[in-house]
Amino acid sequence: MSTSPDFIPFNEPSIGEEEIQEVVETLRSGWLTMGPRTQRFEREFAAAVGAREAVALSSATAGLQLALAALGIGPGDEVITTPLTFCATVEVILHMGATPVLADVADDGNIDPEEIRRRIGPRTKAVMPVHLGGLPCRMAEIWALAREHGLAVVEDAAHTPGAVYRGAPIGGPCPPHGASDAVVFSFYANKNMTTGEGGMATTQRQDLADRMRLLRLHGINKDGWKRYHKSGTWAYEVSELGYKANMSDIQAAMGIHQLAKVPRFTAERERLATLFDEAFAEVEEIVRPRRQADSQHAWHLYAIRVRPEKLAISRSEFIEQLKERGVGTSVHFIPVPLHPFFANHAADPRNRCPRALALYERLISLPLYPGLGEERAGRVVDAVRDVARRNRVKVFAAAV
Ligand SMILES: *Cc1c(COP(=O)(O)O)cnc(C)c1O
Repeated sequence: MSTSPDFIPFNEPSIGEEEIQEVVETLRSGWLTMGPRTQRFEREFAAAVGAREAVALSSATAGLQLALAALGIGPGDEVITTPLTFCATVEVILHMGATPVLADVADDGNIDPEEIRRRIGPRTKAVMPVHLGGLPCRMAEIWALAREHGLAVVEDAAHTPGAVYRGAPIGGPCPPHGASDAVVFSFYANKNMTTGEGGMATTQRQDLADRMRLLRLHGINKDGWKRYHKSGTWAYEVSELGYKANMSDIQAAMGIHQLAKVPRFTAERERLATLFDEAFAEVEEIVRPRRQADSQHAWHLYAIRVRPEKLAISRSEFIEQLKERGVGTSVHFIPVPLHPFFANHAADPRNRCPRALALYERLISLPLYPGLGEERAGRVVDAVRDVARRNRVKVFAAAV
């Protein structure tokens, strides 16, 4: 990647003085690991999304795995998810000894509820929809399927802090349509809000929250983390085989202030997405990302699609030419069946996903983040327009 000061990076975190001050105060406080700031972050996160419980974790990957573990999913069980996701979504299913089953995507890039229906069988235990790029999945249909077939729903909401579905923030219940068993957010460095590394699982189920709290700290009984505090004691009990997946107060210190900024961050992402939408309306060589009338997009990603029939170059060449013009991009995602770790499952005919594979060949994620600013957004627009124009397929009028 270019190191020129003019190069527009694909992503930049937005960290303010509030986060820095709170981290410094945490370091001075003497309490570094999970403690009072983590508890406050959990309370404020739950309130922000309207969830009953929020459990802070070391990552979203850990959260997805703990949710499956708390639901008792294991060998012999099948979990349906999307092929167009980060490897983590499928990795955790495999770690639990369960079998991932991929349901192909709809035109918006999200898992297609109709494809889920076709793959439900006697072993199906759960569905894991992923809100790709921040666009909420068709949850009402997914919850209806889950009710009909007695399935658990675990949302991979890594991209969706700030998103709203049918009037309810992603992460909480959405009456009268339904609620998921668990919803898992990521605070990785490039996500809509960050703690460097970190994640949060929200749930309406007290039993699941209790189990995830137990499992995140080795299976040590309630409040075991207080054992080094003056109110704690040396005694603790490991009641079952757990994991090491808790958040630290250093991370929570950042999270508290990032969370408070999510409404502002989302508004700025929406403004930039609208600016791109307007600028690209007339560019026939690309298709703009989908919106849904019943939801607020979190705009974690702004992914355009090239139209191969209108362009003389491939998606990858389009990316190279944007880079030559100083614009960093990415692709979300390389479909799961293309990765060697999935080779043992790729041959299962249920995992065929022609729509995801075709869409993948066309996707380019452009820079979109609160600190991008109008000037740099304008340069992204100019670069996309210029690459599209110069590589337009020439249509010659047929001789009459
Ligand atoms: C980033 C991401 C994850 C993993 O998040 P971590 O916090 O890094 O574990 C999972 N799913 C999707 C779709 C992601 O983009």
